[in-house]
Amino acid sequence: MINLVLFGPPGAGKGTQSEKLIQKYGFVHISTGDLFRWHTKNDTALGKRVKEIMNSGALVPDEITIAMLKEELDKNPQAKGFLFDGFPRTVPQAEALDKFMKDNGSAIHHIVALDVSEDEVRARIAKRRTIENRVDDEEEKLNKRITEYFSKTIHVLPYYKNQGRLDTVQGIGVIEDIFKNICAVLDK
Ligand code: ADP
Repeated sequence: MINLVLFGPPGAGKGTQSEKLIQKYGFVHISTGDLFRWHTKNDTALGKRVKEIMNSGALVPDEITIAMLKEELDKNPQAKGFLFDGFPRTVPQAEALDKFMKDNGSAIHHIVALDVSEDEVRARIAKRRTIENRVDDEEEKLNKRITEYFSKTIHVLPYYKNQGRLDTVQGIGVIEDIFKNICAVLDK
């Protein structure tokens, strides 16, 4: 089985593609965003620590994020394959992930980056907002998340690219076509 990192900015369609990939390949889905949301919703100690950071749209510190991820991996020793969604978002997170995989005699086999420009992401989200009629402070948070991605998270790509491990898939177009292109990377 294979382990996959799916990479892309907010609004790139990672959620949609993740669902389809899980159905086809049976991945255990690890979304650090979902995990943090679960902790804040259930008001756990971790949730209390990250709530304000998340609400501002900033990244949670690596130390907290990496510890949470490790715990999640340890909960799934039988997993045949993981799909990482929203992780890694920094180079130290990427290094930690490689180490965890290696310690378990495994590896990250594919890193797929959904390529969608900052302009396109902003246009998509503006369109979604007029449909859903969202409030202003949501807009600010979202802007912050997009800025965090294009100013910080994007630097993870050269980490993988320099090791010849990165595949880029065009993230603009028909959902089914994008899915086929991701599958082509996984099946090669
Ligand atoms: P998006 O919808 O922007 O892709 P996510 O749902 O993946 O965002 O994550 C929501 C929030 O959770 C982020 O804005 C950030 O505060 C926090 N978060 C999620 N994953 C990470 C991570 N790997 N490192 C740091 N913070 C994270």
